[in-house]
Amino acid sequence: METMRQNKFDILKQYYGYDTFREGQEELIDAILDGQDVFGIMPTGAGKSVCYQVPALLMDGITLVISPLISLMKDQVRALNEMGVHAAYLNSSLTYNQYKLALANAMRGQYKIIYVAPERLETQEFLTFALQAPIAMVSIDEAHCVSQWGQDFRPGYLKIRAFIERLPERPVISAFTATATKEVREDVTELIGLHNPRTIVTGFNRPNLYFGVSIPKDKKITLKQYLSVRGDESGIVYCATRKGVEEVHEMLLKEGYPVTRYHAGLDDEERRKNQDDFIYDRKPVMVATNAFGMGIDKSNVRFVIHYNMPKNMESYYQEAGRAGRDGEPAECILLFGKRDVITNEYFIEQDRENDELSETELEIVKAAEREKLRRMTWYCYTQGCLREYMLQYFGEESSACDNCSNCLNHAELTDVTREAILFVKGVEEAGARFGEKLIIEMLHGSLTPKVKQFKLDQKESFGCLKSVSLDKLSQISRQLQMKGYLVVTSSEYPILQMGEKAEELLDGRETLMLREQKKEEVKQKKKSRRTEGSQMAKSNSIFERLRRVRLDLAREEKVPPYLIFSDRTLVELCQKMPQTEDEMLEISGVGLHKLQKYGDAFLSVIRAFSEE
Ligand code: ADP
Repeated sequence: METMRQNKFDILKQYYGYDTFREGQEELIDAILDGQDVFGIMPTGAGKSVCYQVPALLMDGITLVISPLISLMKDQVRALNEMGVHAAYLNSSLTYNQYKLALANAMRGQYKIIYVAPERLETQEFLTFALQAPIAMVSIDEAHCVSQWGQDFRPGYLKIRAFIERLPERPVISAFTATATKEVREDVTELIGLHNPRTIVTGFNRPNLYFGVSIPKDKKITLKQYLSVRGDESGIVYCATRKGVEEVHEMLLKEGYPVTRYHAGLDDEERRKNQDDFIYDRKPVMVATNAFGMGIDKSNVRFVIHYNMPKNMESYYQEAGRAGRDGEPAECILLFGKRDVITNEYFIEQDRENDELSETELEIVKAAEREKLRRMTWYCYTQGCLREYMLQYFGEESSACDNCSNCLNHAELTDVTREAILFVKGVEEAGARFGEKLIIEMLHGSLTPKVKQFKLDQKESFGCLKSVSLDKLSQISRQLQMKGYLVVTSSEYPILQMGEKAEELLDGRETLMLREQKKEEVKQKKKSRRTEGSQMAKSNSIFERLRRVRLDLAREEKVPPYLIFSDRTLVELCQKMPQTEDEMLEISGVGLHKLQKYGDAFLSVIRAFSEE
């Protein structure tokens, strides 16, 4: 066992070209090698695959990896083959003959790792194979798909447990997900049947990601300005609707940007083609609805722009998290507009997806969604650190990050405590029966029909904040809600009420500060957020040359460029400029197999550059 533990470093170096394990990886691998079930809850990009692939290569026998998506399996298998590992997948994308052949090869022990779709587990042919093969481990990727609590429930996952129980000898079971709510965790352990698993939860923080919120006057202009400085970097632009995708895609296409598009309204053929264009960097910018992305493993996505605000923080974290999987700096920018809230509210009210729900149940679900939407909206308005806000939402403590648009926004703060107190008193006086809009009208002294109807013009608070603009009153209201001085109900017509902490503000123990509304700051912040290393590397033409070599090789080999070497590896090549094969092996991401295959091509460019 000790030697296996030691060998894991050799495997990591030889195949992956990495020297050290990342947080959580080593513990999980050791537990697996000790024969213990494991459950790894790690954010996207943390390196879950290494956790099951490294032990798979060390154990006698085959590892089956159950994975929900064909594209994900293909990508993983291609990545393994590139590293020199024999792996295969079994799913519906194979013809019957290909499937038979793959199974026959598997039977002969040709593959160490086999990816399989959950629906295959019950088929006779697969079972015949599985009951005879020496299966050392069953690994379940995206394990949250077993849970009906999650967004990606997949009935096929419920068959995993029965499948494992049928095997003549129980293999080690390892499960992985990036979704960590308590319900999902319990479901995974129970429904997959993990035995006393070693569970590791690593942080949700992704330090290499810059988070930004911008409230542009004209989103189209802001987007074009942003893209105009990104060169031919790869990125995703998410829009809320198919119509939005079409509009943005057409606009960018007209302007000559290398864009493609993806949404559920396109036929399968076009979706596949567009996805490939993006993955292979033929068209490095993808404009898409949220139908795009599940299972996209592209590691060199340098930015994810949300052209519209998503419906909740969970979706935002998942979608934005597709940036920077290689660990290099990447940017996640949300272009917020007030209409985004209305669109999402409309989606919530229209949602009839869950037909089985009774009216009462449906109302409970909707109230929860409205609350989530509100928290998402606050993310766009918060004046504090965006990362801190996000991590706290997911239950993690953190402090300000210095790599988000709010931390880098040094606009002056103004003290609005006096106004805030009058606001809260106004809510109290009006009897906590009205929505935000009406309260603001009352405080501002607007004689609207509703104000008259409810006799709010006769209140003492009427017009007490006449000199403060309606916009600023909205800002104050939001800050009051975020800080818990006021709360809103989650009903269809939300009512503003006193919050738990209202007293602390009213009796002068707390103050409220307001920062001038953030304007378009995408451009101005651009410089400060790149790390020095990557900026140097990128401004340097050697990086571009290496990228070119990678692209050419990728086209020859018909694999996505990032599977040859990640952006991170290219950056390190630029920084260290290796001259020999031995030196090149020192670079993170260069394993033996890749060195043999691609070493020369890269080394000759580096040598030529050094001599210039
Ligand atoms: P996840 O499945 O958790 O989203 P991946 O397994 O796709 O993440 O890994 C993300 C990226 O991190 C990949 O490019 C992978 O090669 C890289 N990676 C994984 N482990 C390490 C490590 N120990 N050192 C350096 N890079 C790593």
